[in-house]
Amino acid sequence: MIKLSKRQDEILEIVKQNGPITGKEIADKLSLSRAALRPDLAILTMSGNIDARPRVGYFYNENFKVKRTAEKYLQQKVNNYKAHPIVVGKSISVYDAIVQLFLEDVGTLYAVNSEGHLAGVISRKDLLRASLGNSNLSELPVSVIMTRMPNIITISPEESLLEAAKKMIQNHIDSLPVVRDVDGQENTYLLVGRITKTTITRAYLEMMEEKSD
Ligand code: ADP
Repeated sequence: MIKLSKRQDEILEIVKQNGPITGKEIADKLSLSRAALRPDLAILTMSGNIDARPRVGYFYNENFKVKRTAEKYLQQKVNNYKAHPIVVGKSISVYDAIVQLFLEDVGTLYAVNSEGHLAGVISRKDLLRASLGNSNLSELPVSVIMTRMPNIITISPEESLLEAAKKMIQNHIDSLPVVRDVDGQENTYLLVGRITKTTITRAYLEMMEEKSD
């Protein structure tokens, strides 16, 4: 974000109070020539603080502050918002996974292999699908029904909440495992957290609360 100069702040205030206002009217208020004002107006317009409409004049961009605050929040690192992942072994049964889902009050479980690396994602729908027409859920291992590596969409702790939101929306999924690479091994990850759509909603609420302070 660009730090505004004192004069740019003054112009912004004039536009806020009087907009739409022409360049000439702003110049008159500041006892300056239009030419002297031009670079500052260009900066304020390019940065999105104000908008210009031909033959109408300059006016304050109401959405600018909201958008900037939203950007600030969504640029926060996944690491600062990630929740604890609920992990199960990939050989546990679908029945036990359902029990675990209720006990932990989550929508998604993550399966790990014997080395502790991420092996699968088990969502509510996966468990419901497995329950249809399967009478012996205690005998059915989750490894048969889960979404497996390398089809798992992951996010790293250093990426932003904006990246996380995009990945969830683009892939139609409710959550992402937060992972770290295991030195250079392809598709081998250590699970360090989870990000859900609720995480994004919480960040949004924090933003709104800060705004109304
Ligand atoms: P729900 O089943 O509660 O609607 P999701 O929308 O997250 O939850 O899951 C939909 C499907 O996408 C499921 O089959 C699940 O295994 C899969 N899935 C969930 N998260 C991921 C992910 N991070 N990467 C790949 N597939 C996923």
